[in-house]
Amino acid sequence: MVSQQTQEKYAELALRTGVNLEKNQALMVNAPIEGADFTKIVVRKAYEMGAKNVHINWVDDELTLLKYENAPDEVITNYPEWRVLLHDNFAEDGGAVLNIRSTNPDLLKDIDPTRVAKANKAAAQAMKNFRQYTMNDRIAWSIISIPTGDWAQKIFPEKSREDAVESLWEAIVKIVRVDQDDPVAAWDAHNATLKTAREVLNKKNYQKLVFKAPGTELEMELPEGHIWKGGSAETEGGVTFNPNMPTEEVFSMPHKYGVNGTVSSTKPLNYGGSLIDNFSLTFKDGKVVDYQAEQGGDTLKHLLDTDDGARRLGEVALVPHESPVSQSGLIFYNTLFDENASCHIALGKAYPTNLEGGSAMDETQLDKHGVNDSLTHVDFMIGSEELDIDGVKADGTTEAVFRNGTWALNVKG
Ligand code: ZN
Ligand code: ZN
Repeated sequence: MVSQQTQEKYAELALRTGVNLEKNQALMVNAPIEGADFTKIVVRKAYEMGAKNVHINWVDDELTLLKYENAPDEVITNYPEWRVLLHDNFAEDGGAVLNIRSTNPDLLKDIDPTRVAKANKAAAQAMKNFRQYTMNDRIAWSIISIPTGDWAQKIFPEKSREDAVESLWEAIVKIVRVDQDDPVAAWDAHNATLKTAREVLNKKNYQKLVFKAPGTELEMELPEGHIWKGGSAETEGGVTFNPNMPTEEVFSMPHKYGVNGTVSSTKPLNYGGSLIDNFSLTFKDGKVVDYQAEQGGDTLKHLLDTDDGARRLGEVALVPHESPVSQSGLIFYNTLFDENASCHIALGKAYPTNLEGGSAMDETQLDKHGVNDSLTHVDFMIGSEELDIDGVKADGTTEAVFRNGTWALNVKG
């Protein structure tokens, strides 16, 4: 097992750098039952830091699967009202939310994708109000992961369950910089690097990005007033937090009507417990008009059919191929990690905070500015060491942003 001391450091990092918990603030933690030991450390530390209440929502893969296998459709498609109220009340009270995400990527592989799609959609619809709190940075929130047995064995199939969990702990600890003497200070430095990169891109103010790689030829307009973000974010109340740990990306939004061409995935996508792999999407005026998938085609179809916005893009993120996640050489089958090994784009809702004044705009205004809306937001990976990206400026000049999967642009300021 990874040492108690290391777990304490990780828990502390999640509370300080992740959600940046304040005195007398409430904390909600979504955690796997298999990670109860780690979760208890988080809870103890949160109270030590002055949390007024820590509320845990336990999740468990086996129980989730049993529900999918046995519950009638009406249960699957009815997201409980009390759960919505719990989240809404919590957010209104200014609580912070820590998600510990460690699902088995193959959990729902034998469940009818239609059933899964219905459940995902019902949950997304019900949680629409709560999502405004997170996607507009109205509250502090963070996503981290800890190893669980099934997930670890998916990554290390040749190892025993125990060894696989140990190996995954080692990989995660390194990637989230908990192996360093002072992880909080290491994250401060990392956030400063990402901040410089996004400031360089904001100054460039590209009108268009052009992606070229095997199976990819994509032209992507960026809306006027788009903002590159990355690393730490700030709540409306001025609290700095890190939505994702790890995070290696700087990201902005594509124009919802301005994407043309074809893009191919470079890593498998774990979508709500089902894998979609080796797929490509073809866009016309921002909308997916054709798609192919070697694995998980049905799941991809359901994802695209969620609503109109699910066929358009809501995020573009640049991650150099030599990021620590990429250097681990592992495929995690978990977007939190895989997206930070690779450039990626997202189908579905854009973050309004990626547009100047976007947080204060209503749906009509957002649409006018090219900001996509949807019930869903799903990142998928398109980066590789063969990816080149050009940036096209307002005066029509073109410059290299990425070559061979890494920065060609000087983003060190
Ligand atoms: Zn992203
Ligand atoms: Zn995303």
